[in-house]
Amino acid sequence: MRCTSCGKFSLYILCKLCKIKLLRPTVTKRLIDGNFAVYSFYNYEEIKNLVDSKYYFHGDRVYKELSKISFAQFNPKFDTKISAIPIDDHTRHGFSQTAILSKYFQQPNIKAIYGSLRATKYVKYAGKDLLYRQKHKRNFEYSGESCLKVVLIDDIITTGLTILEAKSCLEAHNCEILFALTLSDAKV
Ligand SMILES: [Zn+2]
Repeated sequence: MRCTSCGKFSLYILCKLCKIKLLRPTVTKRLIDGNFAVYSFYNYEEIKNLVDSKYYFHGDRVYKELSKISFAQFNPKFDTKISAIPIDDHTRHGFSQTAILSKYFQQPNIKAIYGSLRATKYVKYAGKDLLYRQKHKRNFEYSGESCLKVVLIDDIITTGLTILEAKSCLEAHNCEILFALTLSDAKV
C-alpha cells in the first residue's frame, strides 16, 4: 500500500519517515471566547488529507497512528480524575475519529467517556462561513454524569463554535471544562 501522508510505498498506513519526522506534532494554544484554551497538535492545512480520512474506511488506521504520536504523548499532570469527552463521537464509515483520539489520550487518571455528547442535528460545516455556522447550531445533548472535570476532544477547530457549544452544554450539567484538545487547528 501507500503511505496516506506522503504517497510513497509503505507496509503501513503511515510510513516510518512520516511518523518520525514529517508528522512530528507541535502543540499550539488558541484562546476562544476570551480565555478558554484549545490545544492542537497540527496545522490543519499540513495534514488535511489525514484529517479528512475520517470520511473513508481506512481513516480508523490513520487516526490510530496519528493518535499514538500526538494524543498519547500529551501528558498533562492532573491531581484529580479527569474525563475526556469526545465531541459527537457517533460512528460513520465504521468508526468515530473523536472516539479514537480520546481513547489514546487516556491515562490512569484520565478516562474517556464515549457516546455521551451527541449533536442532535447533523450539519456539515466544512467550507461554510461563520454566519452559516452560527445559524445552524448542532444542538448538543449530554447523557453522561454531572459535575465532571472535563477535557473536550475533537479532530479539528475552525471557528471554535462547535467547541463552545459543546462546552456550554456540559456546563449546563455542572461539569467543569478545563480545556479542549484537538488534532488540528484550521486557524480561520
Ligand atoms: Zn509517508
